[in-house]
Amino acid sequence: MPLICLRDIKKHYGGVNGAPKVAILHGIDLDIGTGEFVAIVGASGSGKSTLMHILGCLDPPSSGQYLFNGEDIATLDSDQLAALRREAFGFVFQAYHLIPTESARENVEVPAIYAGMNETVRQVRATELLQRLGLGERLDNRPSQLSGGQQQRVSIARALINGGHIILADEPTGALDNNTGEEVMNLLSDLAAQGHTVILITHDYKVAAQAQRVIDIQDGRIVSDSQDRHEDTREHNHRRPTGDALLPRSNPSNPHAIALIWDELRDACRAAWRVLRINRARTLLTLLGIIIGVASVVVMLAVGEGAKRQVMTEMNAMGPNMLYVSSTVPDNGGPRGVITEEDIAAMAQLPDVLRVMPILRDPALVRFGDISRRYEILATNEVMPAINRWPVAQGRFYSAEENRNVAPVAVLGYGVYQQFFPQGANPLGLQVLIKDAPYEIIGVMAEKGAESGYSYHDERLYLPRRTGMVRVFPAQRNESYIQLEALSSDQVDRLEQQLKTLLLERHGRDDFRVSSNAARLQAELATRNSMTLMLVLIAAISLLVGGIGVMNVMLMTVRERVREIGIRMATGARQQDILRQFVTEAALVSLLGGAIGAALSLAIIIVLDLAEVPVAPSLSALLGAIFCAMTTGIIFGLIPARQAARLNPVDALSGE
Ligand code: ADP
Ligand code: MG
Repeated sequence: MPLICLRDIKKHYGGVNGAPKVAILHGIDLDIGTGEFVAIVGASGSGKSTLMHILGCLDPPSSGQYLFNGEDIATLDSDQLAALRREAFGFVFQAYHLIPTESARENVEVPAIYAGMNETVRQVRATELLQRLGLGERLDNRPSQLSGGQQQRVSIARALINGGHIILADEPTGALDNNTGEEVMNLLSDLAAQGHTVILITHDYKVAAQAQRVIDIQDGRIVSDSQDRHEDTREHNHRRPTGDALLPRSNPSNPHAIALIWDELRDACRAAWRVLRINRARTLLTLLGIIIGVASVVVMLAVGEGAKRQVMTEMNAMGPNMLYVSSTVPDNGGPRGVITEEDIAAMAQLPDVLRVMPILRDPALVRFGDISRRYEILATNEVMPAINRWPVAQGRFYSAEENRNVAPVAVLGYGVYQQFFPQGANPLGLQVLIKDAPYEIIGVMAEKGAESGYSYHDERLYLPRRTGMVRVFPAQRNESYIQLEALSSDQVDRLEQQLKTLLLERHGRDDFRVSSNAARLQAELATRNSMTLMLVLIAAISLLVGGIGVMNVMLMTVRERVREIGIRMATGARQQDILRQFVTEAALVSLLGGAIGAALSLAIIIVLDLAEVPVAPSLSALLGAIFCAMTTGIIFGLIPARQAARLNPVDALSGE
């Protein structure tokens, strides 16, 4: 059985979408046996290349039957056809068709990559082949750095890397001068002598004469076949050893799947990196959208989170569980309310209350030595340090008993202490005069302003409540306000309601006000949250725009690299290989953009931090943004990649 068997093969172009139907091949019958060296010769435009594309499974015939090794090609799907191109055929083109961005050796490796050959094996084999073809010194040169003859030898090496059982050479000498052309012909003759099946296509009868069998084609018909006169040659050919004598046939014995994916990924990365580097300015411009998107997402989240944390800190400093009750003039007129001792006692009985601190507050003249100043006097009970989480720095706070006994003692705020004791002397046991009456200094509060920003707390003197009521402000019969601490922050709202109900019941009118820190801060937090949300939305939009940029550039890339795609398909890439390559490239472009954006965001966050803007950078936001960028790239890269994968190999090869 012949290796290749064509029966009544016809091919026409057009005939769809109103394009005129042009018949190119008008019924070709042709048998080619293993190991034959056949030349198909004919004038330009006679349909030789069309026939070669059909022979090489790059293009299906319009009608007729093609049996390869007895198997009907029409029954194979596109992946099986790709496998056939990869394993059985090796193409050599007039225009060499090397991938311009890859080196000689990498070009030779391309079919082996798609055959799943291990990287080291593949490199060794490519190097060996190139050395045998006299290009040992040129392994790392790009096609543009090679002469025509050298490029053609690279393409022959590429045709051989997977075994090259059948070499399909379309005008291999067409672009070469006579001497170089002759060298290439000798090479093909050698290959034929070594057992490769060589199908040479040429318009030159002198070139064709070097083959053992010459088939003449005119206007899409075979007009003569020298085999008809040389039966014995064919018999001789059929007895020749099959397969590849130059190198053993490649046997990609299902290499380890993970290693294969890793190999592929690395190849794709390398290819992508090369393309990005060649178009540096364009790449950078494309990446800008992604860079800005990622940087803004990360920075905005960090700033938003920083602001939120600041509010939380503030809230904690002010006490998240705190409520305040004060008397007021009712809305509908009448005298100002009075919160009595009995009211305070009743409040203390409420189940959700942890601490109650009635506060009497007024300024008074304070003297120490020859310093005389007005300070605010805050008279309250002994729970003050506990309720405000505010420790005493020196000495002690007054006790409940001192409060009951109206003891003439005072605790200084830190600012007051600094004013009276600029040298930092020990104040304990000394006396200050408040409204000209002496009070013993028993303690100094820790500095409050430093941590919370409430430095006015430091500019006060703290006295027992009853001392204040009896000795300092005897005329004042009302509490300034009452601070209460709820058992927990969850109970603040409930306690607020309880207090309102209680006081309304006791007073019979609305002459008081109850408020909490939590409510105020909650409102502030909500505004900041919605602002963060808006900013993140803007950032997300810029990421989207970045994704569109990536798509745009990938579409351009696909258009620019149509020929490369054709070459890859002709050398055995499946559609999914092409798809994967371009998706990987898109993912890499956006990953690069994401990484730059992340670096930029870190720089901005550092600057903001130095400028004392509260920022709280988070690793998850950073990684999330990079991940989003990459996903955007993949999603937007899919369309161009599919466009690339769906290209017809023949159209792609002839494309620009
Ligand atoms: P040869 O290789 O013998 O010079 P080809 O096989 O390349 O000839 O082309 C044969 C004829 O088919 C030419 O007239 C060419 O214009 C036409 N042809 C080739 N490809 C296409 C195509 N994709 N669409 C329409 N016509 C085509
Ligand atoms: Mg041609």
